Amino acid sequence: MLLPHKVAVVGFQGDVSEHVTMLKRTFRKLEIDGEVVQARRAEDLSNASGIILPGGESTTIYKLTKQFGLYDEIRRLAMSGIPVMGTCAGLILISRETNDDRVKGMGLLDIEIERNAYGRQIDSFIEYIDIIGIGMFPAVFIRAPVISNPGAAKVMAKRKTEVVMVRQDNIIGLTFHPELTDDTRIHEYFISIVEGERYISTGR
Ligand code: GLN
Repeated sequence: MLLPHKVAVVGFQGDVSEHVTMLKRTFRKLEIDGEVVQARRAEDLSNASGIILPGGESTTIYKLTKQFGLYDEIRRLAMSGIPVMGTCAGLILISRETNDDRVKGMGLLDIEIERNAYGRQIDSFIEYIDIIGIGMFPAVFIRAPVISNPGAAKVMAKRKTEVVMVRQDNIIGLTFHPELTDDTRIHEYFISIVEGERYISTGR
């Protein structure tokens, strides 16, 4: 018998429950037997078939993932081929160059970013963007970073001239927050990678 997919959401701070809810909805919608766990210890990642790093405060998430051994374990699993998605602060954590000594990126995406590039919380906004393979999507930008150099990653979406979503093999990164919408298409896309790209988005 096939084991159900276990997707782990790094569970220290930020949009943890929002990702958990979106993943459960996605599993239901795709009729996949899936389990969702909040990971706070490296052991919580054992047998994970996908990992999500949520939006939040990257300096905090960095510190705690380091302290509890998740940082190195996520890096190891990602490099062995496990799909990983990082949203906003999560993207910062998986990038190659954060330009901030307080947050060292795991280097899973060959990208360079600038933290808080749009300004302060008050400068947050929602805007539709066009994502390759997904279509128009309501992107929530909250004190978002900017991908200043996508390096070897494939650009999946831009806002004006700024790169806002990239993919490099099994890793995807977004500067915005799909977990704060009721649109599951980006989570469906991620689960399609977990499933070996068997599914395509079925719309909302
Ligand atoms: N500004 C945050 C950081 O650098 C990210 C913002 C977010 O995840 N909404 O950690």
